[in-house]
Parts: sequence; structure tokens; C-alpha cells
Amino acid sequence: MELTEATWTEVRAAAPDAALLPVGSTEQHGPHAPLGTDSLTAQAVANAASDRAGDGVVVAPPVHVGVAEEHRAFDGTLWVSPDTFRAYVRETVESLAYHGIDRVVLVNGHGGNLEALAEVARRVSRDGSTGAYAVSFTWFRAVGEHSAEMGHGGKLETAMLRHVAPGLVREERIDEAREGGTDRWGKWVRGVNLAHDSDEFTGNGVVGDPGAGDAALGGELLDRASDALTEVLAAVRER
Ligand SMILES: [Zn+2]
Repeated sequence: MELTEATWTEVRAAAPDAALLPVGSTEQHGPHAPLGTDSLTAQAVANAASDRAGDGVVVAPPVHVGVAEEHRAFDGTLWVSPDTFRAYVRETVESLAYHGIDRVVLVNGHGGNLEALAEVARRVSRDGSTGAYAVSFTWFRAVGEHSAEMGHGGKLETAMLRHVAPGLVREERIDEAREGGTDRWGKWVRGVNLAHDSDEFTGNGVVGDPGAGDAALGGELLDRASDALTEVLAAVRER
């Protein structure tokens, strides 16, 4: 059940105990992929896991703006401070818990959100006042050996988009995306990343090869990620 499409009476009748809260970002993904890539992928994984889980689970509306200042050089990128983001996600989880939907998995699609989401999950669970228990799940860390291939607007994300939102990939710009990109995130010296912003190491925002991942790989990634999320969700509901 998606909260955006459900009525309040349907939610009351279903008495769900768990929620998946997709958390994305609105940020550059190269010249070929939409700014909303991280929201679209997080939502697709959440919806697929919710379909598998069946009754008792709702999918909350996605958080579309996250911690993404590192992409500020590229037009259309939006961000909020980590403080604002943490407060917003935490209060959203608390409002779910108010309705008894107190087992929550934050379904993340953006690397820049990782730290803040882990903190929110700990804080909300330790706090105890709402009875909520939350964990953070990031889809591209749950796709087996493919996780090592995660760039930015590269093989994995472009493959996922080709599967879940093919009309939004600018196929005619793939060559340009590949040529203007780079193959490694950051500017590293002895384990220290000297770059704070992505334009310091990628000219057009791409890291990896967007030509390398087709829709079939996207389908496999979606399956793997939603399998993993289904298992995490079941464990969270048992607590
Ligand atoms: Zn992304």
C-alpha cells in the first residue's frame, strides 16, 4: 500500500505495523540521467519489496531532497543541511509511529545520505518515546558483487533506470556521458579524499560507464536489492 494513493480509512482498516520510507535526492546524474535518479531507484526498490511483503506494510512518500551539496556545481541540484535532513526524516518516522506504524526501514538511494540516515535510525530507536524502531538500508550496497561497481550515473544507476524508467535515460547522450566522466569517486592521497565537491574530479558529473549496464542488469539489481530489503524488513518487523 502506497500512502500517497491510499485513503485514511484504508490505512486504519489495514492497521499496518511497518513502513518503507524511500529517501532519494535531487542532484545531477550526468548529461544522460535525470536529477531524480536516486528517488526513482529508492522508490522502485521499496515498491518491489512491499509487493513481496504483502499485508501490513506501507510505502511512505519519498524524501526527494537530501544531503547533496557535493553536487552543487551542477545545475538543478538541490540540498538541505544534514541537520534539516535528519530532523525531517526523524519527524516523518515519528508521525508513522504515532499511527502504530513503528517498524521503519529507510530505503536510501544516495550515498551522501548514508551518515545522516544511520544517525537518524539510531536516534529514533534509542529515544524510545515513540516506540519506533528504524534501520537504514541502501540499495546499491545490497546487490552482491555489483556493489563494488557503484559509481555515479554510471553502470549500476543507468542500468536500474533503463529497467524502471527507460524513458528518462537520454540514450543519445551516453557517449558524451562516458567521455566526460571519470572512473573513480574522489581525489585520493593515502586513503584521504581531498575533494569535497564532485566537480573536482568529474567534468560532467559521471563516475563509471553508463553504457555498461543494460535493462536486464537493471532487473537483476532490482531483484537483488528488493530480496535483501524484504529480508531486512521481515527481521525489523519481528523485533
Ligand atoms: Zn545517484
